[in-house]
Amino acid sequence: MARAFTDELVFVPLGGVGEIGMNMAAYGFGPPNARKWIVVDCGVTFAGPQEPGVELILPDPAFLEEHADDVLALVLTHSHEDHYGAVLDLWPAFDRPVYATAFSAAMLTAKRESEGIMERIDIKPMRVGKPFTVGPFSIEAVNVAHSIPESCALLIATPVGRVVHTGDWKLDPNPVGGPPTDLPRFALAGEDRSSPLALICDSTNALKDGTSPSEDEVAATLEALIAEAPHRVAITTFASNVGRLISVARAAQKAGRRVVMSGRAMHRISGIARELGMMEGIEPFLDQNEYKTLARKDVVLLCTGSQGEARAAIARIAREEHPEISLNAGDRVIFSSWAIPGNEREVIDIQNMLIDRGVEVITQTHALVHTTGHPRREELKRLYDAVKPDVLVPVHGEAAHLEAHALLGRQHGIDTVVHARNGDMVRLFPDTTHFPGEVRTGVLYLDGNVLCTPEESGVKGRRRLSFGGHIVVSLCVNASGQILSGPELVIEGLPDVEDDDESLPHLIRRAVTGTLKSIPPKRRGDADLVNTALQRAVRSEVTAYWGRKPNVSIFVHRV
Ligand SMILES: [Zn+2]
Ligand SMILES: [Zn+2]
Repeated sequence: MARAFTDELVFVPLGGVGEIGMNMAAYGFGPPNARKWIVVDCGVTFAGPQEPGVELILPDPAFLEEHADDVLALVLTHSHEDHYGAVLDLWPAFDRPVYATAFSAAMLTAKRESEGIMERIDIKPMRVGKPFTVGPFSIEAVNVAHSIPESCALLIATPVGRVVHTGDWKLDPNPVGGPPTDLPRFALAGEDRSSPLALICDSTNALKDGTSPSEDEVAATLEALIAEAPHRVAITTFASNVGRLISVARAAQKAGRRVVMSGRAMHRISGIARELGMMEGIEPFLDQNEYKTLARKDVVLLCTGSQGEARAAIARIAREEHPEISLNAGDRVIFSSWAIPGNEREVIDIQNMLIDRGVEVITQTHALVHTTGHPRREELKRLYDAVKPDVLVPVHGEAAHLEAHALLGRQHGIDTVVHARNGDMVRLFPDTTHFPGEVRTGVLYLDGNVLCTPEESGVKGRRRLSFGGHIVVSLCVNASGQILSGPELVIEGLPDVEDDDESLPHLIRRAVTGTLKSIPPKRRGDADLVNTALQRAVRSEVTAYWGRKPNVSIFVHRV
């Protein structure tokens, strides 16, 4: 009995553990019947071909809604979409503050304005090294190097134990545009043995040996590639990688070239970075309408579209559909990025279009023009050595990443390693215990403007339509079942082959009239029977012809 009223610190991953994307986690403190909660991150995943028409997939906040009165705040580690992309859709309902650094706050505000969202969000400033208190939690943001400004790990302290929640990080000794990961602060936390410590840690690169290359090595490569280029250089990268934008701008300045920027997201994010003083010594970027005024050897174009997005700048340039910008044979395009799984085909198509026109394409297979923002195995080990965690919970990864990370932690001597997944409840302290599948998790779709569950979304039907098309048959009959008008047909998404005898409309009409005739006159008054018979007949006739089952709707009107 006593156990039930003891204060505990629990960790509940609601997204991002067992998948890449939509990171969201809850930390609870208190006795099991009266916990207070903070939420760390609230991200999205981009939908794939399995979810036709859906743009974003969000973690289902059902568990948090059940405890809404005890949810105290949201804390954002950084402003990548997989960590903050769902805030504007999910968080207003909780009406609780969001703690964010100045850059993340500005990103959130800019997104809210650009999407015309009316709901206000109470953003509270968070500064590295300045602890703040939320209910029973004391929270301190610790600077980490990543691939977007102001990424933070969180040091979360409670009376029964502490947590280092790393967020996304790497151990880059020479990051561009921001300080390196504050390893000394982690070591300080590790030296404090007054209460136990858990490490909740990024697993993205746990399968990769060694140390990830530094951002300044990428900068040096870009500098050489820009300096030696005979004509134009175009570089596409992630708009949010401000460090990379700075590296390109510095390299261009050194080579005596001007930087033209194309792409709304890039203008927006570099504008935020400039306002916050992150672009000191970087000349203003020129807008794309100045592109044509510059000689070929005087320009570096920075543009969006590194993921193959059809409407982004580099795709439109490759298709020769861009109103202001064109590239010619001998120009150089650098993909300073990697293709997120699922985007590879689109990226390769764009590269091929450029190559076909004589443009030189350089990717990370040719030169070090991109580096990851996540820690490889040697970096993970250095963090373990600094933090000396009592408990390790690998997060931010698919099963293979989590498993490799767990094994690495155990091999490195960490006593307790928890194999958690979304929806598990992990009691961290006291006595680490793992309760799989304790809480409700799932996903929501943002389908157009509608936020809904997968069941509510209609995506299943949309997928069925994409395979089976749709046939609508409408006819008017009298009481004795004779056709007075019709059948009228609507056929969507089925093959339409010129063939006088065997065309689809012909087959369907024949099936309808034949079926009606085959029903004894006195039973033709039974509407359900007629409908079912017509449905079956049309379906089987079309299936025999096409080799696939169509979706069929029958409307029999009686007069
Ligand atoms: Zn990130
Ligand atoms: Zn991430």
